Amino acid sequence: MSKPRDRLRIAVQKSGRLSESSQDLLQRCGLKFRQSRDKLFCFGETLPIDLLLVRDDDIPGLIAQGVCEMGIVGRNVAQERRIEAQTTGTAGFVELRELGFGRCRLSIAVPNEDTFDGPQSLAGLRIATSYPHLLGDYLKRHEVAADVVVLNGSVEIAPRLGTADAICDLVSSGATLIANQLREVASILDSQAVLIGSATPLDERAEYAELLLRRIDGVIRVRESKLLILNAAQSDLAALLPLLPRGATPNVLARQGGITVQALCHEAVTWTHLEALKKGGASQLMVLPVESLLS
Ligand code: ATP
Ligand code: ZN
Repeated sequence: MSKPRDRLRIAVQKSGRLSESSQDLLQRCGLKFRQSRDKLFCFGETLPIDLLLVRDDDIPGLIAQGVCEMGIVGRNVAQERRIEAQTTGTAGFVELRELGFGRCRLSIAVPNEDTFDGPQSLAGLRIATSYPHLLGDYLKRHEVAADVVVLNGSVEIAPRLGTADAICDLVSSGATLIANQLREVASILDSQAVLIGSATPLDERAEYAELLLRRIDGVIRVRESKLLILNAAQSDLAALLPLLPRGATPNVLARQGGITVQALCHEAVTWTHLEALKKGGASQLMVLPVESLLS
């Protein structure tokens, strides 16, 4: 595939756990795409940024080959590829942002009835996983010799089938492990969706990449942000300011008979905050969601 010179390409998972949140994030950044989403390629209508819909495992490689410049994958996929690439050279991509969705962990689990007293308990066992490099790295760090059995799906049933003694797989709620009579004994990686990008500098398209990164930062910040508004008497202001949620940036406006404080809060605004503020003299307290943010 020849490299597009004037448009940026972002690869996202075509269908799976990350698909919806990835496309939702890009839409919140103001990107709109033409063509139905089940196609491989979506043309960006609002900016020269196109979308490639592929299997998540292919994304790091597509970036390394220069087929696309950015992509969204689980950190588990990115790290697995990074360790794999250590023997051959560089991975060809860098992690640009944590995106706050697709949270899970890569964990080792053993059958409920088996004992586990630390990594050494894994010595000599057959461990089934789709992440041989991450698991291999963990075993190496703990100086444990075990057999790594690579499976590309249904890892959790391997102990019941007798093809492995333990597994190393992604866990979020843990329900799959419970359903398969397995017990999580060690977590080897905390994962979430990450934006990865080409390790080589982009040409003139760097401008679009930077624009997108700024918008992504805005979307991530806005997700946790709230606008707190309250009225008070000027004389209460000094006592009220320390009661605002930590990191809030207040704006004080003069009003007939008093002041209005508008505070942008990036941390949760709790009932405890509101009650303390009210006690400190604030009235007409209001907490509003923030739609967009550019600072
Ligand atoms: P593909 O067909 O694209 O290869 P897949 O089967 O590898 O899909 P999914 O199951 O859709 O992938 O998971 C995609 C990513 O979602 C994982 O790599 C991981 O980062 C994240 N994830 C979050 N929670 C879980 C979970 N409980 N199990 C598996 N993956 C999870
Ligand atoms: Zn996959």
